[in-house]
Amino acid sequence: MINQLFLSLGGNLGNTREIFEGAYPLIEKKIGKISVYSSIYQTEAWGPIPQADFLNQVILVSTTLPPQACLKEMLAIEKEFCRERKERWGPRTLDLDILYYSDVTIAEEDLTVPHPRIADRKFILTPLAEIAPFYVDPTSGKSMVELLDSCTDSSQVNRSV
Ligand code: ATP
Ligand code: CA
Ligand code: CA
Repeated sequence: MINQLFLSLGGNLGNTREIFEGAYPLIEKKIGKISVYSSIYQTEAWGPIPQADFLNQVILVSTTLPPQACLKEMLAIEKEFCRERKERWGPRTLDLDILYYSDVTIAEEDLTVPHPRIADRKFILTPLAEIAPFYVDPTSGKSMVELLDSCTDSSQVNRSV
């Protein structure tokens, strides 16, 4: 059975573009084929810690792996790019999150799907609305453009050239 995984990439340490380029083949090898890539956006850091701007992107991956196995592979790929976990929401070389996994809802200790902070984040909703404007969030019943319209996050999100 093939599922549709919306996966977010983010980073603000090192050469993020190069890190993303390096992550795509690993994602394809370990998780599944990437069918859609959003633009890459330069975004102001979200949350309490002042730090360098991020690059963010959302991709759509077709996968036969169950969600927990996707997460495991994603954490392993982050490690390949020397991701270290120090403070919450701090600087990082590569952050891979599961945003949506088809219309599946999961509430486990180490995995919440849909990702619980999508509606609060312009840096996630902007690329989602670019590649899947009419995709409906299974929790709120709202489309990506509707969520983006009602998002109160005022941080800068600009397409990066
Ligand atoms: P945020 O979740 O707010 O984006 P973060 O990405 O900085 O924060 P991390 O330190 O990267 O948080 O991840 C901490 C843990 O979150 C992971 O080890 C994973 O077990 C858990 N987690 C829960 N739900 C998800 C999800 N949908 N995608 C990725 N990780 C998740
Ligand atoms: Ca994250
Ligand atoms: Ca994460």
